[in-house]
Amino acid sequence: MVVPGNMGRPAYRLYQLAWAGLDWLYPPQCGGCGKSGSRWCVDCRHQTHLLPSTICTVCGRIHHSPEPCWLCQKALPAYSALRSWAFFNGPLRKALHRLKYSRDLALGEVLARPLYEMLHQLNWPIDLVTSVPMGVARRAERGYNQATLLAFPLSLASGMTFRSQALIKARDTRSQVGLNLTQRRENVSDAFLARSEIVNNKCILVVDDVTTSGATIEACAEALIKAGACQVFGLTLARAAINQV
Ligand SMILES: [Zn+2]
Ligand SMILES: [Zn+2]
Repeated sequence: MVVPGNMGRPAYRLYQLAWAGLDWLYPPQCGGCGKSGSRWCVDCRHQTHLLPSTICTVCGRIHHSPEPCWLCQKALPAYSALRSWAFFNGPLRKALHRLKYSRDLALGEVLARPLYEMLHQLNWPIDLVTSVPMGVARRAERGYNQATLLAFPLSLASGMTFRSQALIKARDTRSQVGLNLTQRRENVSDAFLARSEIVNNKCILVVDDVTTSGATIEACAEALIKAGACQVFGLTLARAAINQV
């Protein structure tokens, strides 16, 4: 449930008004289907395939038991919990592609709204919000970080501090496409560093656009815990099958 008082926080309202002003100047197209009139249309919203509630309470994988899944039982991840809003398919997949590659920056604000609703229900004890960082070269090439475009409005709506520099990418990683779970973990292992002066003794929420195996959030959580964070939670808009991303 959205709490109208929180969604009406002045900084968040201003942020929304700024994007609404741009919509007025440059009428938007839906990120999911391209239809004119809104950034994320009602049809695409209805076609979004939300994740079920039958998931592992730790890693968020589909799992039909109150006990953690076998992977989490084998080795608990460094994060306390990871949740995603919807499956990475249909209009949401197209919208996230536009957010990432087509500079459709306004989509971030509208796609962050369901994350706010989730966060409110999850009631995690968060002190600080950050996003999965990109490498310097990729960040310079793209000009923005799509995970930050979700995390920043989420922090404004929730009234929580956002720090983009809490995590930094310590080394380049190859694309996770085509990698299995073990390879994904190796690919991102020690790829991140956290700033102790920002995260020490804090409960951190790490936001990303898509998760597949949870390996990236896990690597971020390891870095944050090493830097003194007391707990780490992960929240992503979409969850993909391992052969999708
Ligand atoms: Zn649409
Ligand atoms: Zn699990």
